[in-house]
Amino acid sequence: MKIVLATSNRGKIREFNHFFDDEIIAYSDLITPFEIIEDGETFAQNALLKARAISDKLSSEYIVLADDSGISVPLLGGAPGIYSARFAGVDASDGDNMRFLIEKLKEQGVTQTPAFYTAAIALVCNEGEFVTHGWMHGDVIDEARGEGGFGYDPMFIPLGFDKTLGELDEAVKKEFSHRSKALRLMQPILEMMQK
Ligand code: IMP
Repeated sequence: MKIVLATSNRGKIREFNHFFDDEIIAYSDLITPFEIIEDGETFAQNALLKARAISDKLSSEYIVLADDSGISVPLLGGAPGIYSARFAGVDASDGDNMRFLIEKLKEQGVTQTPAFYTAAIALVCNEGEFVTHGWMHGDVIDEARGEGGFGYDPMFIPLGFDKTLGELDEAVKKEFSHRSKALRLMQPILEMMQK
Protein backbone atom coordinates (compact mmCIF):
# COMPACT_ATOMS: atom_id res chain seq x y z
CA MET A 1 0.00 0.00 0.00
CA LYS A 2 1.51 3.31 -1.01
CA ILE A 3 0.24 6.11 1.20
CA VAL A 4 1.03 9.67 0.13
CA LEU A 5 0.60 12.60 2.47
CA ALA A 6 -0.71 15.78 0.85
CA THR A 7 1.33 18.21 2.95
CA SER A 8 4.79 19.67 3.21
CA ASN A 9 4.23 20.69 6.87
CA ARG A 10 7.11 18.92 8.66
CA GLY A 11 5.26 18.82 12.00
CA LYS A 12 2.34 16.99 10.43
CA ILE A 13 4.59 14.57 8.48
CA ARG A 14 6.41 13.67 11.73
CA GLU A 15 3.12 12.94 13.50
CA PHE A 16 1.80 10.83 10.61
CA ASN A 17 5.04 8.82 10.53
CA HIS A 18 4.75 8.11 14.27
CA PHE A 19 1.33 6.69 13.63
CA PHE A 20 1.87 4.28 10.73
CA ASP A 21 4.05 1.20 10.41
CA ASP A 22 4.16 1.65 6.63
CA GLU A 23 6.30 4.52 5.48
CA ILE A 24 4.33 7.58 4.51
CA ILE A 25 5.55 9.36 1.39
CA ALA A 26 5.38 13.16 1.37
CA TYR A 27 3.80 14.24 -1.93
CA SER A 28 6.70 16.62 -2.47
CA ASP A 29 8.97 13.55 -2.80
CA LEU A 30 6.97 12.45 -5.86
CA ILE A 31 6.00 15.67 -7.62
CA THR A 32 6.99 19.32 -7.52
CA PRO A 33 5.05 21.05 -4.74
CA PHE A 34 2.34 23.34 -6.04
CA GLU A 35 -0.13 25.76 -4.51
CA ILE A 36 -3.55 24.41 -3.59
CA ILE A 37 -6.21 27.06 -2.98
CA GLU A 38 -7.90 26.11 0.29
CA ASP A 39 -11.16 27.97 -0.18
CA GLY A 40 -13.47 25.49 1.53
CA GLU A 41 -15.66 26.61 4.40
CA THR A 42 -14.85 23.69 6.69
CA PHE A 43 -11.83 21.62 7.71
CA ALA A 44 -13.38 18.65 5.88
CA GLN A 45 -13.83 20.58 2.63
CA ASN A 46 -10.24 21.85 2.74
CA ALA A 47 -8.83 18.39 3.52
CA LEU A 48 -10.73 16.97 0.52
CA LEU A 49 -9.55 19.81 -1.73
CA LYS A 50 -5.93 19.00 -0.88
CA ALA A 51 -6.28 15.22 -1.21
CA ARG A 52 -8.11 15.47 -4.56
CA ALA A 53 -5.60 17.96 -5.99
CA ILE A 54 -2.67 15.63 -5.25
CA SER A 55 -4.54 12.46 -6.22
CA ASP A 56 -5.35 13.97 -9.64
CA LYS A 57 -1.61 14.26 -10.34
CA LEU A 58 -0.63 10.73 -9.27
CA SER A 59 -1.27 7.27 -10.67
CA SER A 60 -4.08 5.19 -9.16
CA GLU A 61 -1.69 2.95 -7.15
CA TYR A 62 -1.42 5.72 -4.54
CA ILE A 63 -3.73 6.36 -1.61
CA VAL A 64 -3.66 10.06 -0.75
CA LEU A 65 -4.20 11.31 2.79
CA ALA A 66 -4.63 15.01 3.59
CA ASP A 67 -5.02 16.74 6.92
CA ASP A 68 -6.68 20.09 7.46
CA SER A 69 -6.51 21.24 11.03
CA GLY A 70 -6.51 24.24 13.31
CA ILE A 71 -7.29 25.69 16.69
CA SER A 72 -10.55 27.35 17.75
CA VAL A 73 -11.01 29.68 20.71
CA PRO A 74 -14.68 30.10 21.75
CA LEU A 75 -13.89 33.44 23.47
CA LEU A 76 -12.81 34.74 20.02
CA GLY A 77 -15.92 33.42 18.27
CA GLY A 78 -14.10 30.26 17.15
CA ALA A 79 -11.11 32.09 15.60
CA PRO A 80 -8.71 31.30 14.10
CA GLY A 81 -10.40 27.98 13.13
CA ILE A 82 -9.87 27.12 9.46
CA TYR A 83 -7.66 30.23 9.18
CA SER A 84 -5.14 28.95 11.79
CA ALA A 85 -2.23 28.69 9.33
CA ARG A 86 -2.70 32.30 8.15
CA PHE A 87 -4.07 33.99 11.29
CA ALA A 88 -1.33 36.65 11.35
CA GLY A 89 -1.20 37.00 7.52
CA VAL A 90 -0.76 34.97 4.35
CA ASP A 91 2.92 34.14 4.84
CA ALA A 92 2.84 34.06 8.63
CA SER A 93 5.14 31.61 10.44
CA ASP A 94 3.99 29.40 13.33
CA GLY A 95 5.66 31.91 15.69
CA ASP A 96 3.85 34.89 14.09
CA ASN A 97 0.49 33.13 14.42
CA MET A 98 1.11 32.20 18.04
CA ARG A 99 2.16 35.75 18.95
CA PHE A 100 -0.95 37.08 17.20
CA LEU A 101 -3.21 34.75 19.18
CA ILE A 102 -1.46 35.77 22.42
CA GLU A 103 -2.14 39.44 21.52
CA LYS A 104 -5.82 38.61 20.97
CA LEU A 105 -6.03 36.95 24.41
CA LYS A 106 -4.39 39.98 26.01
CA GLU A 107 -6.88 42.30 24.27
CA GLN A 108 -9.65 40.24 25.92
CA GLY A 109 -7.92 40.61 29.31
CA VAL A 110 -7.50 36.87 29.92
CA THR A 111 -4.39 34.83 30.69
CA GLN A 112 -6.03 31.45 29.95
CA THR A 113 -9.22 30.39 28.15
CA PRO A 114 -10.71 27.17 26.67
CA ALA A 115 -9.72 26.16 23.14
CA PHE A 116 -9.78 23.06 20.98
CA TYR A 117 -7.91 21.62 18.05
CA THR A 118 -9.80 20.04 15.13
CA ALA A 119 -8.32 17.73 12.51
CA ALA A 120 -10.13 16.54 9.41
CA ILE A 121 -8.36 13.73 7.55
CA ALA A 122 -9.39 13.07 3.97
CA LEU A 123 -8.50 9.90 2.09
CA VAL A 124 -8.83 9.83 -1.69
CA CYS A 125 -8.17 6.69 -3.73
CA ASN A 126 -9.62 4.50 -6.48
CA GLU A 127 -12.30 3.16 -4.15
CA GLY A 128 -13.66 6.56 -3.21
CA GLU A 129 -13.35 9.46 -0.78
CA PHE A 130 -13.53 9.31 3.02
CA VAL A 131 -13.27 11.95 5.78
CA THR A 132 -12.81 11.51 9.54
CA HIS A 133 -12.51 14.08 12.34
CA GLY A 134 -10.80 14.29 15.71
CA TRP A 135 -10.75 16.93 18.44
CA MET A 136 -8.48 17.78 21.35
CA HIS A 137 -9.78 20.08 24.09
CA GLY A 138 -7.81 22.19 26.53
CA ASP A 139 -6.84 25.81 27.25
CA VAL A 140 -4.69 28.37 25.49
CA ILE A 141 -2.48 30.62 27.64
CA ASP A 142 -1.00 34.06 27.04
CA GLU A 143 2.60 32.86 26.65
CA ALA A 144 4.59 30.21 24.77
CA ARG A 145 6.18 27.49 26.90
CA GLY A 146 8.47 24.70 25.65
CA GLU A 147 9.93 23.77 22.29
CA GLY A 148 8.02 20.58 21.45
CA GLY A 149 5.28 20.05 18.85
CA PHE A 150 4.57 22.70 16.22
CA GLY A 151 2.12 25.51 15.48
CA TYR A 152 0.20 26.63 18.55
CA ASP A 153 1.43 23.74 20.75
CA PRO A 154 3.62 25.85 23.10
CA MET A 155 0.55 27.85 24.19
CA PHE A 156 -1.90 24.91 24.41
CA ILE A 157 -2.49 22.97 27.66
CA PRO A 158 -4.49 19.77 27.02
CA LEU A 159 -7.39 19.00 29.34
CA GLY A 160 -6.15 17.04 32.37
CA PHE A 161 -2.56 18.34 32.14
CA ASP A 162 -0.78 21.36 33.63
CA LYS A 163 1.88 21.77 30.95
CA THR A 164 1.72 22.88 27.33
CA LEU A 165 2.18 20.53 24.37
CA GLY A 166 5.48 22.35 23.89
CA GLU A 167 6.60 21.02 27.29
CA LEU A 168 4.93 17.59 27.38
CA ASP A 169 6.42 14.43 25.93
CA GLU A 170 5.49 13.67 22.29
CA ALA A 171 3.77 10.50 23.54
CA VAL A 172 0.93 12.62 25.00
CA LYS A 173 0.12 14.07 21.61
CA LYS A 174 0.36 10.67 19.94
CA GLU A 175 -2.19 9.30 22.40
CA PHE A 176 -4.69 12.16 22.70
CA SER A 177 -4.34 14.53 19.74
CA HIS A 178 -7.05 15.55 17.30
CA ARG A 179 -4.89 14.13 14.48
CA SER A 180 -4.37 10.76 16.19
CA LYS A 181 -8.09 10.44 16.87
CA ALA A 182 -9.02 11.20 13.26
CA LEU A 183 -6.32 8.82 12.00
CA ARG A 184 -7.52 6.01 14.29
CA LEU A 185 -10.97 6.33 12.71
CA MET A 186 -9.39 6.10 9.24
CA GLN A 187 -7.42 2.98 10.14
CA PRO A 188 -10.22 0.41 9.43
CA ILE A 189 -10.72 1.89 5.97
CA LEU A 190 -6.99 1.59 5.24
CA GLU A 191 -7.01 -1.99 6.54
CA MET A 192 -9.94 -2.90 4.28
CA MET A 193 -7.93 -1.69 1.31
CA GLN A 194 -5.08 -4.06 2.12
CA LYS A 195 -7.42 -7.08 1.82
P1 IMP B 1 -3.28 23.55 7.50
O1 IMP B 1 -1.91 23.07 7.14
O2 IMP B 1 -3.90 24.42 6.48
O3 IMP B 1 -4.17 22.43 7.94
O4 IMP B 1 -3.08 24.51 8.77
C1 IMP B 1 -3.00 23.98 10.03
C2 IMP B 1 -2.52 25.07 10.98
O5 IMP B 1 -3.23 24.85 12.23
C3 IMP B 1 -1.04 24.91 11.30
O6 IMP B 1 -0.29 25.81 10.59
C4 IMP B 1 -0.97 25.17 12.77
O7 IMP B 1 -0.83 26.55 12.95
C5 IMP B 1 -2.33 24.79 13.30
N1 IMP B 1 -2.32 23.39 13.80
C6 IMP B 1 -2.94 22.31 13.27
N2 IMP B 1 -2.68 21.21 13.98
C7 IMP B 1 -1.86 21.60 14.96
C8 IMP B 1 -1.24 20.89 16.02
O8 IMP B 1 -1.33 19.67 16.18
N3 IMP B 1 -0.48 21.64 16.84
C9 IMP B 1 -0.34 22.98 16.69
N4 IMP B 1 -0.87 23.68 15.72
C10 IMP B 1 -1.65 23.00 14.86
